[in-house]
Amino acid sequence: MELREGSYYIQNVKALDIAEQFGTPVYVYDADKIVHQLKTLKTAFADADVKIKYAVKALTNLSILRLLKKYGAGADVVSIQEAHLALKAGFSPSEIMFSPNCADFSEIEEAVKLGLVVNIDNIPFLIKFGTQYRSSYPCSIRLNPHIMAGGNIKISTGHSDSKFGISVYQLPQIMEVVSQYNIQIQGLHIHTGSDITETDVFLKMADIFFSVARDFPDLKFIDFGSGFKVAYKEGDRVTNVFDLGLKLTESFRLFCEQYGRKLELWLEPGKFIVSEAGHLLAKTTLVKSTPSTTFVGVNTGLNHLLRPMMYDAYHHILNISNPTGEQKVYTVVGYICETDTIGAERKLNEVHESDFLAIKNAGAYGFSMASNYNSRLRPAEVLVINNEARLIREREVFEDLLRGQVEIEL
Ligand SMILES: *Cc1c(COP(=O)(O)O)cnc(C)c1O
Repeated sequence: MELREGSYYIQNVKALDIAEQFGTPVYVYDADKIVHQLKTLKTAFADADVKIKYAVKALTNLSILRLLKKYGAGADVVSIQEAHLALKAGFSPSEIMFSPNCADFSEIEEAVKLGLVVNIDNIPFLIKFGTQYRSSYPCSIRLNPHIMAGGNIKISTGHSDSKFGISVYQLPQIMEVVSQYNIQIQGLHIHTGSDITETDVFLKMADIFFSVARDFPDLKFIDFGSGFKVAYKEGDRVTNVFDLGLKLTESFRLFCEQYGRKLELWLEPGKFIVSEAGHLLAKTTLVKSTPSTTFVGVNTGLNHLLRPMMYDAYHHILNISNPTGEQKVYTVVGYICETDTIGAERKLNEVHESDFLAIKNAGAYGFSMASNYNSRLRPAEVLVINNEARLIREREVFEDLLRGQVEIEL
């Protein structure tokens, strides 16, 4: 979103017009930004045989999936339902990486039937998989490298207490199962979690992969997962994907030489692709001053954007109705009966009742984590593409709250 001649625009569409045309709250995504991010990663890793598997859980709308498919991404899914959405969006089964955690084994059986790439993250399932499929269906293995990455324990998945992956210290057990059942291991995978700013973390991962890979002669790919951080605030540290691309590509090239064969380098970005492309537009319902604080109430809350409450995430907020007004300090709060502070003590251009605010970085883990808490309806979703705002999900209606409820005689 950019400010031009006193108005905020997404491509050539005025953000205010979108709020008025589609109503609020509404999630708005900029297709150009999504495609740009995908291309940026591809460029950064241009010298490797890189495959970008978009992490579908960040933003699951079919139109977004189709857009990413059109520009050459694959998909990374964590549930069989996400797999079906990816298939519906046009991804072929072999482009879909299925990495469930603690899902029922029947989901893995279904994934095999569908022909997805199956990623196994625990030894009991590896044994089951071996018993059932032996060498007839390959799989990949999710390793836990015991690296604490990213600083936020809630979104770090690669540290030693994490429930994700098979510990690298259990490699001997993995090898025993693999050789007992003659399982074909076609990939190795590590996803250490979100918000990694240090290239070194990825390079450490690479070292672990490379020391382990020698034991697996049938590899086709090595999957470095994600963790690419984007800027939420001005001056935020971000993952320098060009530096990372350069260094990782080089160490990968050396590794492939040693391994004796060229392998594919897989990445699974979610946030990096869609976070900055998304805005949640909301209307201010109330400006309320207390002796200490001026609150701005909005017609959305943790039911639509959980990240501030769940991860203490910072989301920048703009008053798009008054882009040049005098700046004052406000605490922006949601309409849910919980303390759902979206932004505490923020400088905003003077806010009036019925102004429209834009909450930034709302593309990833925004709508996809939304709920109906407080019996609120989930918002519409709009994609701005070719300078046109197009509805890609209808706003929920009251009937949606009743769907599936069974009324019994009392
Ligand atoms: C969530 C997830 C990702 C994406 O993480 P981002 O921080 O959104 O890039 C990638 N791989 C796996 C296995 C995941 O669970």
